[in-house]
Amino acid sequence: MELGLRGKVALVAAASRGLGRAVAEELASEGVSLILCARTENLLEDVCCEIRERKDVSVLGVPTDLSKTEDIERLISEALKHFGQIDILVTNAGGPPAATFENLSRDDWMQATALLLDSVLDLTRLVLPGMKERRWGRILNITSIAAKQSVENLILSNSLRAAVTGFAKTLADEVAAFGVTVNNIMPGYTRTERVEQLALTIAAKEGIEPAEALTRWTAEIPMRRLGEPSEFAALAAFLVSERAGYITGSSVAADGGWLRSLV
Ligand code: NAD
Repeated sequence: MELGLRGKVALVAAASRGLGRAVAEELASEGVSLILCARTENLLEDVCCEIRERKDVSVLGVPTDLSKTEDIERLISEALKHFGQIDILVTNAGGPPAATFENLSRDDWMQATALLLDSVLDLTRLVLPGMKERRWGRILNITSIAAKQSVENLILSNSLRAAVTGFAKTLADEVAAFGVTVNNIMPGYTRTERVEQLALTIAAKEGIEPAEALTRWTAEIPMRRLGEPSEFAALAAFLVSERAGYITGSSVAADGGWLRSLV
């Protein structure tokens, strides 16, 4: 399928590894120029170099802490200076710590809110005016299956993904007439460092091996395996493409069947 993405410019947040990186690679394969960000400069630069060399597209890396508004302002300003416009915004950030309510402080909530909700608002606020002016834009938020079905021990994610989903649904209405779509993509358990970290946390808490935590999760997944980042990225590329022009305000899962709801 021709996705109609060639020549577009996409900003993919938190792209030095995991899902963000996989989305960046998939978009590069479709001929999209990229702005990538993450906190660690040398890691980010390695990823940018690799994608540039392998996919022959233009890639700008801007070290950014997504929990800081001033970093996001600098990111967008450098991106616009370099490419002149941003057609596609993929919001993403590191996952919040696994914990129960009584094990979290007010500061933990503020930090998670800055990273998972405020970063989405800041990025969108700065990118949206150009999309509206050009009457074309795609905003895709990487949320989680936790937006639809709460996950044990992940109260920060369960709460803040719901907030992003409410924001995205409302914004989708507000900007639909300008040719800008706003959607969310909900990863299920996908093979990245985040999942390995969660398995280590559970293993330490329950005195089991990390492999046992992984086995428990795969038993809950009808496909009986973790997802691959490339499988997630294929869906992301479709949702930001020309071909997905009539899809907005939706949350789409890539979860091997994990969610139990009917719609
Ligand atoms: P990951 O830990 O593999 O990668 C996270 C990326 O975020 C890295 O590039 C890291 O450098 C970057 N990052 C972290 N904190 C940052 C900050 N303050 N500023 C800038 N960059 C920062 O995680 P992942 O598996 O790719 O997950 C991405 C998102 O999807 C997370 O929010 C995660 O909770 C969510 N998610 C993942 C899964 C899964 O199974 N992998 C499932 C549901 C939801």
